[in-house]
Amino acid sequence: MSGALVRRTSSVEATERLGQMFAPALRAGDVLALSGDLGAGKTRFVAGLARGLNPKARVRSPSFTLVNEYAGSPTIYHLDLYRLGTGEVDALGLEEYAEAGALVVEWGERLPAHWLEDALALAFAAGEGDERTIEAALPAPGSARGRELLAAWRELPGAP
Ligand code: ADP
Ligand code: MG
Repeated sequence: MSGALVRRTSSVEATERLGQMFAPALRAGDVLALSGDLGAGKTRFVAGLARGLNPKARVRSPSFTLVNEYAGSPTIYHLDLYRLGTGEVDALGLEEYAEAGALVVEWGERLPAHWLEDALALAFAAGEGDERTIEAALPAPGSARGRELLAAWRELPGAP
């Protein structure tokens, strides 16, 4: 495997573009677990993903609506666990969403462990000004699907 695990962007547009380019790698059942502080760029990345699958998608921060749905192929279910406790996550009925599409979860490190078994984790961090880094990792290194998603991440164009 070649290609970078860490990608750097220096604008909102570049972060969205990264999401847009990654979107075709997704299929129903996939889980992307996005971590990073408020303002690190998680929601902007999801906006890019959604637009990569459906140019008409309008993405908002899902802090107040528990699950945002963006129709596409696959459909994306976008959640933010920031305000949820573990028990509440269990009550969301994620199984149904995961059957119907890809789960993209902000504060995804808070997912119950079994949801991370085949996930790709993307850690967002803010640097100076508009600089952001996004680092991919596998929560469960033995996962075949996780490795495919990681390979797709490494193959994104524009790596240094
Ligand atoms: P999060 O969902 O991680 O809390 P958001 O994506 O909602 O963060 O917000 C990121 C904020 O940072 C936005 O206000 C955006 O304009 C700003 N920003 C500045 N530079 C970048 C960048 N390179 N990538 C993404 N967002 C950026
Ligand atoms: Mg957000």
